[in-house]
Amino acid sequence: MSKKSLCKGCLENVIVTEEVIQELLLEAMEDMTNVVNDNVYVKRLTVCQSCPSLLYGTTCIQSGSIVRYRAKFKNNSCPFPSGPKW
Ligand code: SF4
Repeated sequence: MSKKSLCKGCLENVIVTEEVIQELLLEAMEDMTNVVNDNVYVKRLTVCQSCPSLLYGTTCIQSGSIVRYRAKFKNNSCPFPSGPKW
């Protein structure tokens, strides 16, 4: 039994649609004083894309956050266990 199975209960919470992500980003940008500039945002997401903690290309397994949302905020940081990557 080496076949990896996916937990349907988790999938409902972990896999999110592009539509949901866009809604979250619109919400985040309602107050631009809380969000990082585009350069910082892109740098953060580039780090996430090569991180072993990124699940399904969207979700950080350390925080359970959608990284495209989490990375938007000035006050957020990376929760990587051995030290923040951003
Ligand atoms: S641990 Fe940090 S770098 Fe890795 S996916 Fe999560 S937020 Fe991104």
